[in-house]
Amino acid sequence: MVHHPFINQRLFCPGPTPVSREATQAGLRTTIYHRTPEFYSEFQQCQKLLAPFFGTTKTPIILTCSGTGAMEAAMTNLTAPGDTIIVIEGGKFGERWRKMGTAYGCDVKTFTVPWGASPDLGDLRTFLKGHTNAKAFFMQVTETSTGVSYPLADIIQLVKQETQALVILDAISGLVAESVAMDQWGVDCVLAGSQKGLGIPPGLAFLVLSDRAVAAFSLRPRFYFDLKREMENQKDGMTAWTPATTLIASLKVALEQLAAVGVSGCLDHHQKLARACRSGVKAMGFDLLAQSHPANGLTAVALPSSIDGGKLVKHLQSRYGIIAAGGQDQLKGKIIRLAHLGFVDPFDLITVMSALELALHDLSALPKPLGSGVGAALQQIASSP
Ligand SMILES: *Cc1c(COP(=O)(O)O)cnc(C)c1O
Repeated sequence: MVHHPFINQRLFCPGPTPVSREATQAGLRTTIYHRTPEFYSEFQQCQKLLAPFFGTTKTPIILTCSGTGAMEAAMTNLTAPGDTIIVIEGGKFGERWRKMGTAYGCDVKTFTVPWGASPDLGDLRTFLKGHTNAKAFFMQVTETSTGVSYPLADIIQLVKQETQALVILDAISGLVAESVAMDQWGVDCVLAGSQKGLGIPPGLAFLVLSDRAVAAFSLRPRFYFDLKREMENQKDGMTAWTPATTLIASLKVALEQLAAVGVSGCLDHHQKLARACRSGVKAMGFDLLAQSHPANGLTAVALPSSIDGGKLVKHLQSRYGIIAAGGQDQLKGKIIRLAHLGFVDPFDLITVMSALELALHDLSALPKPLGSGVGAALQQIASSP
């Protein structure tokens, strides 16, 4: 498809996210053979640079698959049929844990959270007391379908007080944008994907296991996602199967760029963009869907019933080249989700604010004067260090 030459296509959906020019170029090199010292060294560099974003001293496993592949690897390696598992379900990705656990024959106990909210800790404690035999506990760092960032430290502490369950976190949209302290919190498995906070194209997934998780590998049959086999191979930079070598080349460059900013610098950056985005949409006259725990990596804007969210998303894309995401299932048509994840800078944020105001204006649905959102976002950026 040939795009309009004067409408640049810009990614603001929660994955895939914008890739830096340097990482793109690195991925364009001639394909190399993966059974060579040259590749092992590049692979090990990636592992070393990834670890701090997980808050771990363990060596991350790199898998060639989408993020859901890493979720499946965690499920199949750490649970057996008939195991009781607990899932926090506050949106589409919590639902994915539930459905996956059910597909793999686990006895899934679901703690349901209203979409856009965060678990009530008192209710969660009561729920955990009813399932102290749980083998594993699954949740998201950020629930990408609602823009909620869960208060992890508090939740994990509760789980550890009430159960012996392995704690497994899907950080696919949370890594880099949120603080993840795997070792400090005593988390057993954290997984992530390439096309979100790390800002490289889709196709790689990452997974870190605690010693407790490694000691608890299940006897369930598995083959491609055999984490024991991967761990043994990958400590020398080798993968069990052919890895996506060009993505590894991009990953290494992207990680070097992120490392130059540092884990806390990346966190500050995403907080700054998130604050600007929230101020902008509020000044346009809208509420956030996630009122109490909004994520750093994306913002879900609650739309009044007079605005058709689906139409707004389409208009943004066709008229302005802005690729945003709408709502799914019960939120279909009711929200718009704007990601500020990957290689996005404050001017990109101003771009998406401008386009959103223009699109709403075109649809006669902008409650405040044109520029209100952009102005507030600029103010917020100006007052951030
Ligand atoms: C994007 C996402 C996934 C799915 O990842 P894929 O790469 O599409 O398989 C899972 N969980 C969360 C929280 C996500 O944001």
